[in-house]
Amino acid sequence: MNAPKANTAPHMQRLDLLALHEDVAPQIEALQLTRGKPLIVSDCDEVLMQFIAGLELYLETQGLWLDLKSFALTGNVKRRDTGEPVPAAEMPELLKSFFASSTHSLIPVQGAAAALKALRARAQIVVLTNVPFSERETRAQNLAAHGMAYPVIANKGLKGGAVKRLAELVEAPVIFLDDIPHNIASVAAAHAPTHRIHFIADPRLARLLPPSEHSHFHTTDWALAHDFISACLEKDGF
Ligand SMILES: [Mg+2]
Repeated sequence: MNAPKANTAPHMQRLDLLALHEDVAPQIEALQLTRGKPLIVSDCDEVLMQFIAGLELYLETQGLWLDLKSFALTGNVKRRDTGEPVPAAEMPELLKSFFASSTHSLIPVQGAAAALKALRARAQIVVLTNVPFSERETRAQNLAAHGMAYPVIANKGLKGGAVKRLAELVEAPVIFLDDIPHNIASVAAAHAPTHRIHFIADPRLARLLPPSEHSHFHTTDWALAHDFISACLEKDGF
C-alpha cells in the first residue's frame, strides 16, 4: 500500500529503483551491524503490524471507511455519508494524521514476534519501514512493546537503495520482506542476491494482487515465512 508511483522513463525508473534518501543513509550508517552475519530486513506495515486493521479503526473516527476493491488506498477511502472517495490530493494529509494518531497502537501480525525470535540467533534483524520520520521512535516503541525490539529505519521512497547499502555493510546473505510489489522489484534491481519474500498479512488484501514476479516466496503466514527464511540460511551455509 502507498506504493510510490513507477516512473515511465526507463532510465529514470532505474534511478528511482536504486535511490537512497539523504535522511535514510545516516540511519543505516548508525546501525551496529555484525559483518558476516545474515540480515533479515523486514517491512512493518502489513508484515509485522496490522496496518489495514489499524487504518480502518482510524477511518471510523473520521466518518470514513475503506472500500477494499483494489490494492490501493487512493480512491478506496470513502465518506460514510456520501459514499464519495476522498480526493487523491487529500490522501497524504490523511495518512500523516493516521500515522500520528495510530502508530503507537497498531496490533502485531500473528506469529511475527515468535518467528523473528526463533531466527535471531542465526540472523540480525532490522525493520525498514516507510513511516514518517517523525514516527520512527514511536514505531520502535510499539514494536518493542510486542516483543520486536529491533532497530527501525524510517525509509522514504522505494527500498532497493537502502537494502543495497545494508547488504554492503553485512557482507552476508540478506532476506527481505515487504507487501508492496514496487519495493520487492526495487530490491531485485538494487541487490539481486537478496532472498525476497512477498508477505501480506491481511487476507483480504492478499487476495487483491498476485505474488510479485520478483519474489521468491509469497505468504500471509509467519510460520511459513520462518521456514522459508530458515531454509535460505541453511542453503547459504548458516
Ligand atoms: Mg508495508
